[in-house]
Amino acid sequence: MLITDQEPLAIDGGKPVRDRHRHPWPRWPIFGHAEEQALKRVLNSGQWWYVGGTEGVSFEKEFAAFQHAQYGVACTNGTAAIEIAIRALEIGYGDEVIVPSYTFIASASAPLMAGALPVFVDVDPQTYNIDPDQVEAAITPRTKAIIAVHLTGRPADMDRLLAIAKRHNLYLIEDAAQAHGAEWRGRRVGALGDLGTFSFQASKNLNAGEGGMVLSNNESLADAAWSIMNVGRSRGGKWYEHPFPGSNYRMTEFQAALLRAQLQRLPQQIQLRSRNAAYLRQLLEQIPGIQLPIEDERITCQSYHLYAFRYHSDAFGGHSLEEFLRALNAEGIPSMATYRPLYQQPAFAHHAARLAALTNGKITMDYTKLHHPVCEQLCAECVWLPQYVLLGTQRDVEDIATAIARIQKAWT
Ligand SMILES: *Cc1c(COP(=O)(O)O)cnc(C)c1O
Repeated sequence: MLITDQEPLAIDGGKPVRDRHRHPWPRWPIFGHAEEQALKRVLNSGQWWYVGGTEGVSFEKEFAAFQHAQYGVACTNGTAAIEIAIRALEIGYGDEVIVPSYTFIASASAPLMAGALPVFVDVDPQTYNIDPDQVEAAITPRTKAIIAVHLTGRPADMDRLLAIAKRHNLYLIEDAAQAHGAEWRGRRVGALGDLGTFSFQASKNLNAGEGGMVLSNNESLADAAWSIMNVGRSRGGKWYEHPFPGSNYRMTEFQAALLRAQLQRLPQQIQLRSRNAAYLRQLLEQIPGIQLPIEDERITCQSYHLYAFRYHSDAFGGHSLEEFLRALNAEGIPSMATYRPLYQQPAFAHHAARLAALTNGKITMDYTKLHHPVCEQLCAECVWLPQYVLLGTQRDVEDIATAIARIQKAWT
């Protein structure tokens, strides 16, 4: 049971639930001898480049296999991975791509960078993921693809999204930047749709500082992605032959070697996060005003890049989300607010103005008029805990719940 004592809150001068110096959270990243050996192996080989190297191609195979995919194309980062996916599908000017409004900007800036028009749709209040009904309502004759984001590491509703994509002859891209190891009905995400993309940026559950990957079960799409990643060359083609428009999105051998070592640690970390997340759920369910996303038995594994819940201020004496986060961090629990509605970012209005000018007003979109009630509510109410707090002990999990329960009690 949770301790709900009468101690003053840490923001009011009381002793924090958790002294971060005496009881630090698990450090991130986690590394050791294996990573050191991997980096030295590349260093001493003198082969630091993807071209002609063994680490990058080995990592592509190993990570694709890990995600139950046939083909992998390594690249510089998760943002580039989505851009590669968009270009591999030959999406560009005049095309529309449906994306959720509650996600990281890269999910929507990737179609934008290819000249396509991101069409935002609202998310589901129970799952925080793209709402399939809204997707269906947003389809027009110009729609080419849907980008499903597995936000926080919770798979989006792939049954419905795959059915919609098939019925309307659309591509389905999975932005799985937060979903390493996540499963939908026992199958890992990334190649459930046409193309899936991952990030290995520093905060992500598999990390080399930067890095990305495109996955697919479709060989010709994977070849197209490889070509775009490697300045438009073709596999087996000559060095100065460039049959396709591409760019340089090559990963280095250092990144790949580090990621191969990190991948060995991932299965055990996934288990630990899942166990701790289940326990945290049990504890948080008892606290008034904390609302957790609903459970879905089709999701057989979540990767918990972030542990998300909604904060209802009315059960906390009307204290704002900012006050709650200040109080929770003061108790020694790392926690943060989430995104802003993407359509409010000036980047999209800027893009729409340029497209309208380039097409003499044929393509127009007024992003500033959009209003997605669920997205806006989640932006105002959602709290994230970073993944590494789930890599500790049961006691660590109890500290999180104790701190939230103590704040709730003190404010009511
Ligand atoms: C991190 C992230 C990206 C971008 O990955 P980078 O490697 O940082 O470029 C894209 N989409 C989502 C949902 C992310 O969380």
